[in-house]
Amino acid sequence: RAKELGRNNHQFYATSMNEDALQKLSLERFLRKALGLNEFVLFYQPQVNVKSGKIFGFEALLRWKHPILGMVSPATFIPLAEETGLIVPIGEWVLESACRQIKGWHEAGNPHLTVAVNLSARQFQQDNLVEMVERVLAETGVEPQCLELEITESVTMYDVERAIMILHELKNLGIRISLDDFGTGYSSLSYLKHFPIHTLKIDQSFVRDITTDADDAAIATSVIALAHSLNRQVVAEGVETEAHLRYLAAHGCVEMQGYHFSGPLPAQEIEARFLSGKAFKMPALPPLSEN
Ligand code: C2E
Ligand code: MG
Ligand code: MG
Ligand code: MG
Repeated sequence: RAKELGRNNHQFYATSMNEDALQKLSLERFLRKALGLNEFVLFYQPQVNVKSGKIFGFEALLRWKHPILGMVSPATFIPLAEETGLIVPIGEWVLESACRQIKGWHEAGNPHLTVAVNLSARQFQQDNLVEMVERVLAETGVEPQCLELEITESVTMYDVERAIMILHELKNLGIRISLDDFGTGYSSLSYLKHFPIHTLKIDQSFVRDITTDADDAAIATSVIALAHSLNRQVVAEGVETEAHLRYLAAHGCVEMQGYHFSGPLPAQEIEARFLSGKAFKMPALPPLSEN
């Protein structure tokens, strides 16, 4: 009877083990092999100065193309990679690939282009993060000031003091740090004081309805003003329309990225679309009225 119950319980467990958990399990098995099987590719999204009309840099965004699953969204596999620790080798691959690519573009005649690479909280737990970054810069020959590392407030999730120390070491290498998704975490303001941050990235959730939602507009324009008064740079994310562009520009934000300019694309596609002669150019942007 007890045995039967046990078996029933087991069966109950097996049949009710939800699809999500099963899916996650097999996704994890696939993810463990993805790096070795060369299934990752980096896409690049232009970052534009709307005053000069020039592309000043690119954000590298990871894509996973699995032969059976197809394209898996970073929203799905990045959290899993963080949870399993796989983000550490994957992140190293991302940094190496991005640096190799930007070096190629530097040598092709755009020596000041920057590349922004996302770092996850888990990478800050590694003892050798700073050494790893240093090694990649040395091996690829990229000048540190052309590399920007994007972090979120989640880097403080494990150990704030340690994160602050590592950020200072990274800054001392000469690279730049940007605070991604700014405004969506908490304690943003106190972090600004303690983190060596060069750039604030206004989260796309504040940009989406910026022309119709008074609260979003107030938040976005306050972040722009805050960045300026603290002598930080500010980049708006999720700029999808000319109305977004105009509103942000009218409030003093000149660096932007978003579908209005271009989504993330493979390097070859970036070159095909934006490389004219030696320089990366945005096809004509609307003239901005000075403010
Ligand atoms: P993120 O760093 O905030 O990147 C911006 C996300 O917004 C990207 O999504 C990008 O494709 C998307 N995006 C760009 N322009 C627009 C726009 O105009 N409208 C809208 N609605 N979305 C836009 P993606 O590529 O799916 O990446 C999602 C997140 O995954 C990233 O957010 C980042 O947190 C993470 N991620 C991506 N690549 C890496 C990586 O190499 N390492 C780590 N640790 N995280 C990564
Ligand atoms: Mg980012
Ligand atoms: Mg973001
Ligand atoms: Mg994000």
